[in-house]
Amino acid sequence: MKTKSKILLLVAFIFLLLGLANLANVVFNFRDTSVSSAFEKSKMVANIVKDGLTAHMVNGIMSKREYFLEQISSNKEIKSLWIVRGANVIKQYGKGFNDETMRDKIDQEVLKTGKIQKKLTEDLNKVILRVTIPYIATNRTKTTNCLSCHDVKQGETLGAISMEFDISSLRTEGMLTLFKMIGINLLFVVVMLLLINYYITPFTKLFSTLKNGIQKASNGDFTHTFSTTLDGEAGNIIKQMNTLFAKIQETFGDVRQSLATFAPKNKVNSNNPLNEANQIIKELADIYKFKKTIELDMSKNIVYSRIVNVFQEKYNINSFALYEINDKKRTRETIFTSIAENICSSTVDENALECRAYRTETNIVSTEFKNLCQSCINSNIEYSCFFYNINDEYSIVVSMVAKNEHDIENLTNTIPHLKNYLEAAKPVIESKLLMEKLRQTSLKDGMTGLYNRRFLEEFIEKFMSQADRNKETYHIMMLDVDWFKQVNDTYGHDVGDMVIVEIGKLLKKHIRNSDMAIRYGGEEFILLLQNATDEGAMMVAKNIHSGFAAIEFNVGPGESMFKTISIGIAKYPTDGDTIWKCIKYADTALYVAKDTGRNKIVKFKAEMFDNKEI
Ligand code: GH3
Ligand code: MG
Ligand code: MG
Repeated sequence: MKTKSKILLLVAFIFLLLGLANLANVVFNFRDTSVSSAFEKSKMVANIVKDGLTAHMVNGIMSKREYFLEQISSNKEIKSLWIVRGANVIKQYGKGFNDETMRDKIDQEVLKTGKIQKKLTEDLNKVILRVTIPYIATNRTKTTNCLSCHDVKQGETLGAISMEFDISSLRTEGMLTLFKMIGINLLFVVVMLLLINYYITPFTKLFSTLKNGIQKASNGDFTHTFSTTLDGEAGNIIKQMNTLFAKIQETFGDVRQSLATFAPKNKVNSNNPLNEANQIIKELADIYKFKKTIELDMSKNIVYSRIVNVFQEKYNINSFALYEINDKKRTRETIFTSIAENICSSTVDENALECRAYRTETNIVSTEFKNLCQSCINSNIEYSCFFYNINDEYSIVVSMVAKNEHDIENLTNTIPHLKNYLEAAKPVIESKLLMEKLRQTSLKDGMTGLYNRRFLEEFIEKFMSQADRNKETYHIMMLDVDWFKQVNDTYGHDVGDMVIVEIGKLLKKHIRNSDMAIRYGGEEFILLLQNATDEGAMMVAKNIHSGFAAIEFNVGPGESMFKTISIGIAKYPTDGDTIWKCIKYADTALYVAKDTGRNKIVKFKAEMFDNKEI
């Protein structure tokens, strides 16, 4: 029930109760008043009759008393009136008229006890009050001395007067008053209700507009416009609510628009945009954490194992396989599988094109068509497979299996989420694959184990486009041993080679996994430091510089030698927009170092290049 109806009903109920209480009070009082006024009247009549009869007796006209009694009883309220003679009066004066004898038990009782008796007889049509009042013999010299005429003792009952009053008209009047009061009460209640309704309606409307707005807001809809006819505080609240909602709607609209970019991928099934936004943000936060974690992982296999973990822990996928496909060789390698019975034909590993998901680059769901994937060898199982491309050379295929159609549908619904994780892992897997490939090639210098110049020429473009995509920076250091020729000349090539080997070890010691050390020429090296700060890069340079100067080379029995190194530094993309330019600039800085005394670290400055022809 609405609040307004409740209030109105309660008020109506209270007023009706009050009205009824009043009515009951009036009804009882009215009845009592009617009865007691008739009773008082009866006492008065009794006195008049007594005085009248006394007067008749004193004046010796007792025989004329009938007329007097008739006059008295002609009063319209007195239905009947009769005199009852007591035994002593009968004895002294006889029985009197017919009307002066005892008529019923009440008369008898009054004569016997000398006490007033009254009786109310009510039926549907009439209300009759019967009163019988005794006349007691008195001996008052100033007023009436009954004993002067009556042969009785003082205090004895001389007789009684009985009267019947018809008080029906009083009852009718009472009823009329009652109805009038009921009418007035009802009118009052109706007017009250109308007034309350008039004053309360704007408030109930206010509550209902607030309720509707808040209900919509809890579902993420802040478009509700609040309205009220009330001024003052209520009006202010409504104004503030409208301003608040407009602000939230504006902000939330922007957030939703930004999130909409992710929504199609995530396919969040919710009618509540708040929940939807919350889920997308949560997923993005999770993916961000995932990405940050795998970026620092050592190998591709660890990255894959984290993907497997996400599939299992976050999405509760129990039976699935993760395959890596070599696009060039068309071979498939199983990275992980928890599928109990193999579902793919054994030839798929040798010819990945037999995998329908890989060949068509689409999601393959067994429930869509009978025998959809010709390479599936288990007809009792449902599957959902999808493809994800890593780079020109590698792709991933994931096969999820379930026993029934319902489960496979649920698994298929998670694919957009799983792909979000693969997308986050893609650059990391890509770089790990590249690194792996590099390790496997002969692009390394045999003497130092560092990458050689060919490596730089072959892969630097790939690294740099990846750096551009990921907004990475590289500090490029060009290192060259000072007066190296002298070493060869003085101690021979073997000693020279030994110096070069030591430099290789030193460089490896001072760089991180993500950095690269390259033997660029004879005793010339290049370092590429990924995402280092200027201070960090300088620190590495200084450590290498001082580390090299501290190496004591054994050049013969009891004979040793120390050498120094010069370093030039440039930064990509701050100093130059291509890596080759930056390598040149690092070389320029190295040249400046050599030219200005050697055994020093020089950072590239634009003026250096202006003054030098390269
Ligand atoms: P600078 O301070 O100007 O660099 O003087 P430098 O004598 O070091 O001059 P430069 O760098 O031009 O000298 C390079 C020499 O390194 C020339 C070559 O004989 C020698 N060299 C190049 N490759 C090898 C190698 O593999 N082993 C040895 N032992 N020497 C090499
Ligand atoms: Mg040199
Ligand atoms: Mg040199």
